[in-house]
Amino acid sequence: MRLEVQILPKKQIEVCCKLAVHSSEYCFAMLDSLHVCSFFNNGRRIDPILVEACRLHFRPPMKKYAFSGLQPGELTFCYTGELKGFFLFMQDALCHFSFYNAWYPMGFDAEESYEVVIRQDQSKTLLNGVYEQASSSWRYCAENQAFSDCNILLYDPQHCTCIENDAVCMLFFDKQFQSMASTIADSYMAVVQFYSKLYARSPGARHTIVFLPQGKNCPGAYIRENMIVLGETYQDARRILHLLAHELGHTYAAGADTESWEDWLNETHAEWSALLYTLETAPELFEILISELRACEDGNGFSLRPNGDDRPQNVHTCGTRLYYDIYQQYGCDAIKMLLRTYAQLKTKKTACFLKAVLEKSTEIAAIIGTACK
Ligand SMILES: [Zn+2]
Repeated sequence: MRLEVQILPKKQIEVCCKLAVHSSEYCFAMLDSLHVCSFFNNGRRIDPILVEACRLHFRPPMKKYAFSGLQPGELTFCYTGELKGFFLFMQDALCHFSFYNAWYPMGFDAEESYEVVIRQDQSKTLLNGVYEQASSSWRYCAENQAFSDCNILLYDPQHCTCIENDAVCMLFFDKQFQSMASTIADSYMAVVQFYSKLYARSPGARHTIVFLPQGKNCPGAYIRENMIVLGETYQDARRILHLLAHELGHTYAAGADTESWEDWLNETHAEWSALLYTLETAPELFEILISELRACEDGNGFSLRPNGDDRPQNVHTCGTRLYYDIYQQYGCDAIKMLLRTYAQLKTKKTACFLKAVLEKSTEIAAIIGTACK
């Protein structure tokens, strides 16, 4: 899809969207505060047959639009409104909006390749974008992503500091992070080396890490292709590094359905990748993290599937806690075996994972299997 974007004051955007349609029916969802003027199919005005409230994981309230009677070709429409949701940041120094703000058509039939044009001169820089002099605009393309996102980071280079080395380029907007950022950049390189050895392959190309200016609606961090966006910048350097190590751990620990209980696979293995690094380099922090983990036990025991197939609230902690017991009983090597087994798994599902673990340890497979019931 092609998205022409204008950034307006008060967290608002205006977008003209062009989608390819291949059949008579088409359906997508988008943030509910975005107002669409009119829809056109190959230049002919068309109304959706259905517009209804819709909730998708991790995103603010949305609206679902469904069409029928379309002619193959194009569906075009413009929309405007105020953005909402996680990790949103809309100030002069930085405009950041993404998947979490549902600012473009997503879900259902929506294609996952994006061509974005932002009408903005060179006083701002679009991360991963290319500037086009002739149209005074920034262009950004994304397709075939491991996790599909149309992620916009438009920043004022004069308000941004960059610290870089071979492993990472860190962008931050708050000068007070300068010394902390240098420490983190050095240590991040050590995490990359630790993972390269643990998994016998590097986590890929150099990452850009963007420290969002301190905001209220930014829980933790998230990772995309060669990029990590960090919302929690108020903690100490070692905790930030642990958080970044967790995100980088997702380079190896990903692929299970993030919208169902199977997400325990992604989260547990990313977190234990980070915990092994922290255990080796900052054992006292490891102990603190484990005691915090125990403090959030919620009476569900070690169940990985407390809500049936639905993604449980404690998806970040349930498997991590279970693995702590495995670590205590069988040691670090057992955890490394589990991490590598998941990283190498072809079909990222619990049933396949258990089968692969069973070949290595019947006892450990039984512990995990019991927690899945
Ligand atoms: Zn995670």
